[in-house]
This record gives sequence, structure tokens and C-alpha cells, in this order.
Amino acid sequence: MLDFQISEELKLIVETVRQACAQFDDAYWRHVDSKKIYPKEFVDQMVKYGFLSMSIPSNYGGGGTGVTESSMVIEEIARSGCDGGAIRAQIYLTAAFNRIANQDQKDEYLPKIARGDLRFQTFAVTEARAGTETTNISTFAEKDGDNYVINGQKMWISRVMESDLMLLLARNKKVGEVSKKTLGMTLFLVDLKKALRDGTVKAKPIEMMINHSANEILIENLVVPKECVVGEVGRGFYHVLSVMNSERIINSSDTMGSAHFLLSKAVEYAKMRVVFGRPIGQNQGVQFPIASAYAKLEAASALRFKAAWLYDNNMECGKEANILKYLSSEIGVEASNVAMTTMGGMGMAVEGGIERKFREMRLHIIAPVSNNLALSYIASKVLDLPRSY
Ligand SMILES: Cc1cc2nc3c(=O)[nH]c(=O)nc-3n(C[C@H](O)[C@H](O)[C@H](O)COP(=O)(O)OP(=O)(O)OC[C@H]3O[C@@H](n4cnc5c(N)ncnc54)[C@H](O)[C@@H]3O)c2cc1C
Repeated sequence: MLDFQISEELKLIVETVRQACAQFDDAYWRHVDSKKIYPKEFVDQMVKYGFLSMSIPSNYGGGGTGVTESSMVIEEIARSGCDGGAIRAQIYLTAAFNRIANQDQKDEYLPKIARGDLRFQTFAVTEARAGTETTNISTFAEKDGDNYVINGQKMWISRVMESDLMLLLARNKKVGEVSKKTLGMTLFLVDLKKALRDGTVKAKPIEMMINHSANEILIENLVVPKECVVGEVGRGFYHVLSVMNSERIINSSDTMGSAHFLLSKAVEYAKMRVVFGRPIGQNQGVQFPIASAYAKLEAASALRFKAAWLYDNNMECGKEANILKYLSSEIGVEASNVAMTTMGGMGMAVEGGIERKFREMRLHIIAPVSNNLALSYIASKVLDLPRSY
């Protein structure tokens, strides 16, 4: 019944990813990281190879693959030492958009995204005041004839300056007007470039410990036609949950790719570095932490295939996606610690990418959802323990 064999076609795709990433070496990533600039050349290359449109059905010009294949592509990108954070959003956003959007929206946008004419890599949910409590958002969409007029603020929104489209969650009903606070929220597809041009969306970049292009945004009298409502009016929260499953699988695969990168660097160094007359990797104190992290990584990777398979077959995968998110982020941090420790002082050197990945791995503990919230999901939704919040 189960089949973990990787098809020849997928092996070829992964090999192509490796080749496409080869020119983006450590020096390139050191450069963009130190200057905190968007890795445009890398993203353009990934678009050219079609990796950002893999999840778009082939009748729209995309790769027509599932999240399973996309997850392996993003894993390989990170495993090659590249920063999957620069591109992963379009992969999960197009996968989810294809499920939620109506026929007219798909016909209008998916071919343009697949051709590379439009970038769709901004997903705006988080707000400064609401934080993890998404139902507490206050960005509001007021119906005005055939349009909605949106006002509010969002925090930590990634790639605002580098995307043409933004999927935005706003309240269209106040909490007091709905029977459940998860109702009364709606998703909108926003022409972000136009909104930035006319000043109805203003972005303020946030200085951070990683090169990630996150912003605080102010939304003032943004007019969005009713045709740009994605999914059902008032049920945006539930649509967001479905986006989040693909997001969790893709992000976790990115994290696991980076964990592989870190562990392979640790193994390489442990074999080569000789102290006390023998390779440091001959000591169990050095090899066991590497082996332990590797074992956990393999287990999480197997769960990824289950989560992705369920998603691709339109089956409920909230449990698997949340467990995967939790495990992969913990392993990402563990692998970065292991690599740092194995490499001694060299781990701290900027050259080689260990300290960069070490910083990047920390993000996955908190985003796209914090591990506490992933554990709360497992506790209450899977184990039926009382809800803690
Ligand atoms: C670099 C970066 C990029 C991001 N990109 C995006 C983006 O593109 N779009 C977007 O919408 N968001 C984005 N985010 C936001 C991210 O999803 C949030 O930071 C995350 O969901 C946590 O929200 P918060 O920062 O407000 O933390 P808070 O909600 O303030 O939580 C702080 C801490 O308290 C814990 N906590 C809170 N409540 C509970 C509870 N009931 N039980 C146990 N623990 C609890 C949390 O787990 C966390 O550790 C990004 C964040 C970062 C850092």
C-alpha cells in the first residue's frame, strides 16, 4: 500500500535543482546576507527553471505537480546552501490559491504567475496587536457598492517590495456581529504593486537578524473590487487554515533541507579535522549528536511524505502538518547547534554559511506559527485535551 520510491522523473527534477543552485555559492549568499538585499538573481533563476510555478496546474502553464514534489524541490534548494525563504511562499500560495480561488480568478492570474509575469509571494495575516491570536485582527474591509475599502495594519509581512500580488486577511464583520469569532473574516487578492504606487499600502522594512525582507505595512483606504475576494466572504479564517497546511509542509521541507546542509558540513568537517592525532568524528562525543540529529531528520522527512500525500489527495492533514512543523523546526535548531559545536571556532566564521543557517533556523521555531501553538493544536485537536487559550 505504501510506496516511498522516488520516481526517475522526480530524481531528475531534484538533480536539475542542484544544477540550478550550483552557481549561487557561499560567496553569493554572504554578499546578499551582509548587505541584507533580496537575492534577485537567485529568485530569477528559480523562476526561469519553473520551480516557483510547480504547483500551478499544467493547463495554466505551470509544472502541474503536487506539494510532494514541490517539497522535494524546496528541500534540495536549502540542502544546496541556498535560502529557500526567498521563494517558498509562491509555491504554497499558488497551491492553495488553486484550491480556493474561483475559475475566473484562476484563469486571470495563474497563467501570468506561471509565465513569470507576476510574482505572488506575499501573504498578510499577522498584526502587531493580535499576534498569534488571528481572530483578534482588526484590519477591516468595509463593503462599498461593488468594492471593499480596507483599512488597517499588518506586521512581519514578507517580500512586500518583491511581490506583485498579496493575499490579505481582513475582518468584514466585527467579532460582536458573528456567532463565532472565526467567522467574519475574508481573504482578498490585492494588486500590491499598484497599492504601493498609489500609497494605499505603505511598507516599512523591519531590520532583523536574518536577510528576510519582512515589513510592517499600513493599509489606508485600499479599494479592492468584490471580484478579488478569494473563497467565501466571511470564511477567510478557514481558507487561511488550508493555506497554512501547504505552508507548513513547504516551510518544513525548506527547514529540513537546511538541516541536511548543516549536518553534511558537520560530517565533512568531523572527518577532516584532526585533533589529538585522530579525526574529531572518531569521538562518540562528536559523532553521536550528529547521528542523533540525522535520525530525527529522517523520521520527520518520512512524516513530510505522509503530510504531502494527504494534502495532494485532498485529505485532512492538519495533524501531520502541525507535527511536521514542530519536529522540523526543532531539528533545524538542533542541526545548527550540532554543526556549530562540531566545527569549533570555525562554526562562527561567516565563510561557509554555518552561522547564516544557524540564524535562519531560529525563525522556524516562531513562524509561520509558533511551536507552542503547533503543540496546542496537537494537544487539543488530536489528543482531545482541554483547549488552553
Ligand atoms: C521573519 C518573519 C517573517 C514573517 N512573515 C510573515 C508573513 O509573511 N505573513 C504573516 O502574516 N506573518 C508573518 N510573520 C509573523 C509570524 O507568523 C508571527 O511572528 C508568529 O505567528 C508569532 O506571532 P507574534 O510574533 O505576534 O508572537 P506572539 O503571538 O506575541 O507570541 C509570543 C510568544 O508567546 C507564545 N504564546 C502566545 N500565546 C500563547 C498561548 N496561548 N500558549 C502558549 N504560548 C503562547 C508564542 O508561542 C510565542 O512564543 C513573520 C514573522 C517573522 C519573524
